[in-house]
Amino acid sequence: MATASSLQREMLRALPSDAARQIQWGFADRYDLQMLVQSTRAVARGPVARLVANGGRNSHEWTEGKAALLEAFDGAGITAVFMEPEEGGLFAGPKNLALALVAFELAWVDGGAATASLAGCLALAPIHERGTPEQQRRYMSLAAPAQPGENRKPWRGAFCLTEPIPYVGVDTGMLNGKIRIVEWKPGKEPIAQIEKRGRFITNIGFANFVTAAVESDDERIKGSCMVILEEGDPGVFDRGTPTRKMVHQLSSTGDPIFSLRIPAGRIVGGYDVKNGVIIPRYSHSEVIEAVFRRTRVTVGVMTAAKLLSSVEPIIRYQRGRFRGAETATPGSVRYEMGLQAREDALHRLVDVWATGEASASLAFAAARAFDELDPLEREMEKLYAERSISGPKATARFLREASERAAALVPLAARDPRKTALDSDLQLRFVALDSLADVLCPAAKLWNTGWGAQMMREAVSLMGGYGITEDCPGFLGNKWMDAQLEATYEGPEAVQRRQLSVTMTNPVFLAQFRSWIREMRGIASDHPGTGACALATAMSMWMWTLNHLQHSKDADGGKLYHSARQGVTFPLADALCWLMAARCQILDVLRVVREGADDPGPAEGLAGLVNHLTDLCHVHTARASGETGRICAELVFGYNRHPTWDEQGACGCWQADELDGIEGLIPGMNSYALDVVNSDGSHPQKAGPCVNCQAAQPFLSLHSKLDGCLTGSRLAKDRAAEAISKIMIPEALDYPA
Ligand SMILES: Cc1cc2nc3c(=O)[nH]c(=O)nc-3n(C[C@H](O)[C@H](O)[C@H](O)COP(=O)(O)OP(=O)(O)OC[C@H]3O[C@@H](n4cnc5c(N)ncnc54)[C@H](O)[C@@H]3O)c2cc1C
Repeated sequence: MATASSLQREMLRALPSDAARQIQWGFADRYDLQMLVQSTRAVARGPVARLVANGGRNSHEWTEGKAALLEAFDGAGITAVFMEPEEGGLFAGPKNLALALVAFELAWVDGGAATASLAGCLALAPIHERGTPEQQRRYMSLAAPAQPGENRKPWRGAFCLTEPIPYVGVDTGMLNGKIRIVEWKPGKEPIAQIEKRGRFITNIGFANFVTAAVESDDERIKGSCMVILEEGDPGVFDRGTPTRKMVHQLSSTGDPIFSLRIPAGRIVGGYDVKNGVIIPRYSHSEVIEAVFRRTRVTVGVMTAAKLLSSVEPIIRYQRGRFRGAETATPGSVRYEMGLQAREDALHRLVDVWATGEASASLAFAAARAFDELDPLEREMEKLYAERSISGPKATARFLREASERAAALVPLAARDPRKTALDSDLQLRFVALDSLADVLCPAAKLWNTGWGAQMMREAVSLMGGYGITEDCPGFLGNKWMDAQLEATYEGPEAVQRRQLSVTMTNPVFLAQFRSWIREMRGIASDHPGTGACALATAMSMWMWTLNHLQHSKDADGGKLYHSARQGVTFPLADALCWLMAARCQILDVLRVVREGADDPGPAEGLAGLVNHLTDLCHVHTARASGETGRICAELVFGYNRHPTWDEQGACGCWQADELDGIEGLIPGMNSYALDVVNSDGSHPQKAGPCVNCQAAQPFLSLHSKLDGCLTGSRLAKDRAAEAISKIMIPEALDYPA
């Protein structure tokens, strides 16, 4: 097997090919997905790109041109990805990676187009995840594109959770949408009245059905639920005015008003009747939890696509920047390299590219994890049914024992026979993967979109004034603004951080995280250029900090790690995301190393590609380690009160007389003493005596080790920059400006 270090030090020749990406993102063996990528790309770089180039984003109204895209999606098989073959879908089995790839291709050109496609899946997702078999059959088949010879238009859906202020936003429990019974004849299905106002609802301009969150307004209905509303239901189905948004204009968004009568059978997942009370099988929060944990991954993919899509237009702009000037004659550095003769321009592009790689790897890892988890969840549901376990509390109790066993098995050595249970035992496999998915999804949504939006600004800035014009190739200005929406919808950053602050302390996840520290050291020994060793040290530092914060108090005796203390938990969640992204990036490059040589596609130019991707890993790992060090240091020290020159603070200081005496015995001692108080009580002019960091010594050791671990990372950046300055790119972008 080739290793990153054994490959000859060749340079990258061209941008990564499809064949290389297929290996890197784990779908080289999925011909169906490769075909899907091609057909989605044809729509993205064809009709979508033309609509954007022709000013389709200049209006927030739902236009014929935008509506035509939906038909293009149907024709390319994009709409059918979400369904099973018997419902009119493309292929059987989990769809998370497939949807992620669709999102990637569409967002490569325009995020709004990606959202228009994904919002249909979001509307169906409550039904897919928690609907009754009848609901699933009906709505999936209605939403599937027409088969040849069929004369019908597919139904489009919208997902309606958010409400006008002061109700549902980040806090999804503050529901104002209501459900009450208006008719319940003996032996007949109850009829419910729904009152729901939505805010910022995607697809609402044309939706035929809506999945909406409502709360009981009737003592004969318990709690909350999601309901399915149809356009033809009696009452008001008012789509409202379009949102005057400055982003994602190729999707339709508005503030609808619904006042409709529906049969109770439209409660998602059905209901039971006990003592004359309708008990929905799933509350609205149970449904949205199951939905968002998957759909947020695709949002994270979208921002990754934007970053990677910006590399080629930036290179072209930089190279051609001075061509045409009298002083820039062919053959001159100015003509041939343009802005790429400047180190900073190249280094910044390396950062954009490295971030794009890391975020794509993180989001695709999350999508693959959910593809693995989906069938396990189905098996677990059967198990719960067999053992009559229902409801979140009973399920959590049932899983507790498996979680404890899994957390104990993960740290065992790989060759320990007891460890095989982690693969063979359904419950153990489930809790291990579930705990990982619980972190991967919010991490991909949070880091990719939040940090991605920052880095899109950087990408735009590399195009100078051109970047913020409509003429910018690759629509980079649009993508920058769009990234902010991706960071906001389906729950803004606070929601993801809040979720991470809980899931990242799951002992099963932490056991896996600890095992990654060993894994990274192992990788570093075979592939030192990846920066895996620095990452392992940064991971150790994160673990130490989490443990420290969980067991420490602030200067006023307040507990540091708890849910309301977002100043502690949120930054730690951010640091974890950097580490997760860096690890996924390294693992993906190793897959290219392992499998690339056997694939005729990437084998050509493999060494250069691997070297470049490895350098990008190193660059990103250094940044991730630096961020982790900065965040952890602030948290570890920031909640202590700085000593002052009072009696207590001064008791740790040297007294000048005492020091002079020692200096006589140990010459040079004076230079070690930082805080010297003179006999008249005067002291150095600073905030107070320096802090005694004795208790944080292990942290300081890790920090200084981490600083040393950054060795070589800037050399990697120089190499990546040089490669970018020499790489061949096509003459023109393959979609219009
Ligand atoms: C174009 C667009 C399309 C959309 N599509 C849909 C859709 O199809 N369906 C749908 O249901 N919704 C949709 N939304 C709504 C979107 O999901 C919400 O806007 C988003 O979840 C944020 O809610 P909010 O706007 O009420 O923000 P707020 O809740 O007011 O949040 C404002 C700020 O305060 C912070 N904050 C809020 N609460 C907390 C907290 N507890 N802790 C810390 N910080 C907090 C947030 O992070 C944020 O920075 C869409 C929005 C837009 C703009």
